[in-house]
Amino acid sequence: MKYKEVLAARINSLSKRHKLVLMSLSLFTVVVFIWEPTHSISQSLSEPSRSTVTLSSENLQTLADQNSEPVETIFDPNDPEFNAPKDELDKHINAEDIVHSHTVDAGETLGAIFNQYALSISDMYALLDVNKSAANMRVGVDLEWQQDEDGKLTELKIHRNIKDTDVYAWNGEKYTFTQIEEKGEIKPVFLSGRVTSNFYNSARSAGLTPGQIQTLAKQLQWKFDFGKEARKGDRFAVEIDKEFIDGKAVSSGDVKAVLYKNAGRDITLIKHTDGHYYDVQGRSLNRALERFPTHQRYRISSPFNPYRKHPITGRISPHNGTDFATPVGTSVYATGDGVVVRALHHPLAGNYIIIKHGREYMTRYLHLSKILVKKGQKVSMGDKIALSGNTGRSTGPHLHYELIKNGRAVNAMKVPLPQASPVKSDERARFKQQAKLTIEALQEQV
Ligand SMILES: [Zn+2]
Repeated sequence: MKYKEVLAARINSLSKRHKLVLMSLSLFTVVVFIWEPTHSISQSLSEPSRSTVTLSSENLQTLADQNSEPVETIFDPNDPEFNAPKDELDKHINAEDIVHSHTVDAGETLGAIFNQYALSISDMYALLDVNKSAANMRVGVDLEWQQDEDGKLTELKIHRNIKDTDVYAWNGEKYTFTQIEEKGEIKPVFLSGRVTSNFYNSARSAGLTPGQIQTLAKQLQWKFDFGKEARKGDRFAVEIDKEFIDGKAVSSGDVKAVLYKNAGRDITLIKHTDGHYYDVQGRSLNRALERFPTHQRYRISSPFNPYRKHPITGRISPHNGTDFATPVGTSVYATGDGVVVRALHHPLAGNYIIIKHGREYMTRYLHLSKILVKKGQKVSMGDKIALSGNTGRSTGPHLHYELIKNGRAVNAMKVPLPQASPVKSDERARFKQQAKLTIEALQEQV
C-alpha cells in the first residue's frame, strides 16, 4: 500500500513532459500484453519457440487506435453482401475491361497514386524494375490502367502529352515497356446499330469495344441506365476518333460523341477539348460527390491503408475505409445522389448502408446505431441517412466510410471526386455550335 502512495507522489512531482513519456511507455506495455496472448495461441501450435516482434511506431499507432475496427477485421470488398446486385450490363463487363484513370496532381508521387487507388506496391516495384519512366510523375499527366479480378495491374498507360504515351503491359510473367508516339492522323469513324437482344451485344456487333461500351455507359450513367432501361428497337450512333497510319487504323479509338434513341427521346454525349463529356447544351453529365459524410469534421482515427500489416502476424490486413471518431448518434449524410442498395446488419460491419451512385461509385457507411433509410430508396446528396454508432466489430464509437470507384475501394479522402461543372462560359457558344453539327451527323447514321 505504502509503495503505491510513494509512487503516486513521485509521479505527481514529475514534469508534464516526463508524465507524458511515462504514460506512453505504460500504454506500450499494456498494448504488448494485450496482444501477446492472441499471438501465442495462434503460433504455439506450429511454432513452440517465441520469435521477437518488432513494433514500429506506425504499428503501435494502429494497435493503440481506438474508434476503429480491430486490426484483423477485413471487410471483403467483393463480398456480395457489400455490393449492389449486378444488372444486365454488369454481367457482360469484366474487371479487365474497366479502364481506371487519374490525372496527376501537384506533389503526387507514383507511390501516393498507387496508395490512393490501392494498387499493389509490388506491381509498382516490378514496373520500375523494367523502366524508370513511371517514377517521373508530372502535374497534368493522365494515367490510365487496367486490373484483373484480383487487382493485379495488367496495363498502365502514361500519357506524357498528346502524342507520347508510355505503356507498361503485363504479359503473364513480367511487365514490358513500350513508348508509343502518335504519328498518324485522327479521323472520325461512325458506328451504329439497333438493340436486338441486349445493349451490350448489339453495341459489340456494331463494332464497339468493351472499353468503349464501358465509357459511354459510365458517361451517360445519370441520364440513362444501360443496364435497366435499354429496350429492343432502341437505335444508336457513335462517333469514334481513330488514329490511322497509311490508311490503316492503329487504335480502337476514343468515344467522341453518342446519340442514343430510346422511346422517343434523344440522349446525347459529346467530348469537349477539355477531355470531359457534356450534353449538346454543354451541361455536365456528372453528379458531384462530397468528400465528407458528416457536417462537422471529426478526427480520423484510422486512415485508408491498403498495405496495413497486422503487427503480429505480418499479414496484410487492408483498411478499405476512413474511420472518423464520431460520437454515437452523430448524423450521417449521403455524400451523393443515389439509391440505397443495402441497409442491413452484419456481424463485422454492424448496422450498415450501401448507396450506389450511378454506375461508377458506391459508398459504404458502417457501425451505425440507427439506419434512417430503406433498401431501394432514392437519396440526394446531403440527405440524412443514419446515426453513427459502435455496432459490429469495433473498438469504440466511430463511422467507417468507404468509397468504391469502378468496383475498387479507393481513398475517399484523397481521390479526385466527380464535379458537375458545365463547359466554361467563354467556350460554351463554340461548343454548342460544334455539338449541333456532330449530333446532326449522328442523326444521319441511326
Ligand atoms: Zn474502419
